Amino acid sequence: MINLILMGPPGAGKGTQAQKLIAEFHLPQISTGDILREAKRAGTPLGKQAASFMDTGKLVPDELVIGLVEERLGKPDTRDGFILDGFPRTVPQGHALAAMLEKHGLKITRVVVIDVADRQQLVARVTGRWSCPKDSAVYHLKNKPPRAAGVCDLCGTALVQRADDTPEKLTKRLAEYDAFAPALIAFYRSQGLVTELDGERPADEVYQSLKKAVGR
Ligand code: ADP
Ligand code: AMP
Repeated sequence: MINLILMGPPGAGKGTQAQKLIAEFHLPQISTGDILREAKRAGTPLGKQAASFMDTGKLVPDELVIGLVEERLGKPDTRDGFILDGFPRTVPQGHALAAMLEKHGLKITRVVVIDVADRQQLVARVTGRWSCPKDSAVYHLKNKPPRAAGVCDLCGTALVQRADDTPEKLTKRLAEYDAFAPALIAFYRSQGLVTELDGERPADEVYQSLKKAVGR
């Protein structure tokens, strides 16, 4: 069973690696960032509450995010495995996740932290990122251009840039990561669940290490 948490700073490659796992193992990807962006776009009450935090690169309050993950994990497609991308981000989120999984008789099998120490590399990655709003496929102007300019290889939808993928907002998002991630990593390390991967390597190499980490 693969019940995986992907951690790492913004731009580390979590979404990219999740897409590779989906293509090979057909697991659902639960990206709280994608769910929140969709709620924001649709103008739902949750989206409106989350918007001011997201627009300034701050973490959305735990209770908002926990509720939406609980709803998503309640769906039956998560029973044969799942990939959590961008959740949990804080220790309270980690505790809440453990409690909700326990209700369904599930637990996390591995936490993979994708490290990219070179912050300039993260700037280059997020400022060149284009993503598909429909299926979460991720591209990069230089590193992974789509086959046809501006449209998703998988579904033909027009690609979009994220409002928070600017150098200024990235600085704030990285500060949030540095403030909250170490304690969460320590929480999972004490449970023997953490594998750290060097995310500065080409995405295919990272993926080979990721597969080993999840026992495939
Ligand atoms: P995250 O989900 O961690 O924020 P993404 O998977 O969206 O990161 O990747 C951020 C950007 O960096 C995307 O444009 C992606 O194409 C590119 N990217 C991802 N992994 C690598 C890698 N190993 N090497 C170079 N570029 C990468
Ligand atoms: P991401 O797509 O993971 O980079 O997330 C984009 C933004 O959504 C973040 O900067 C936060 O504002 C918000 N967000 C996503 N996931 C979480 C989470 N687990 N906890 C708090 N805020 C989150």
